[in-house]
Amino acid sequence: MKCNYRNCYYLIPSEEGNRRYCDDDCYKAEKSFREKGNYANKKKTFNQIEFAEKILSAAYKKYGSQIINSSIIRAENMDWSIYTGTSLINEVDVNIVGSYGYTLFIDNTIKIYKL
Ligand SMILES: [Zn+2]
Repeated sequence: MKCNYRNCYYLIPSEEGNRRYCDDDCYKAEKSFREKGNYANKKKTFNQIEFAEKILSAAYKKYGSQIINSSIIRAENMDWSIYTGTSLINEVDVNIVGSYGYTLFIDNTIKIYKL
């Protein structure tokens, strides 16, 4: 089996059991790689939330909570998969992004809430 550290190509002899790394250095090096990756992912998600919140905030300033065509928001390239929570407001599901919420309706309209 190949050592689990991504930059090491050492093959661990099978008679050495189920060891996943050739030594502690490889283990630590891989661990440090993964931690950096996690940090980068978290930062990326955080930036996307911040970006989505800015878009919603700008649209809310302009249109308030009236129902608008979602193409107004789509034009801003918002990532719709990003939200920090969900809530039920007046029996409608609302996706929460920071201090704003929105409901995307099937007729391509959107309602924005300031929480
Ligand atoms: Zn190794």
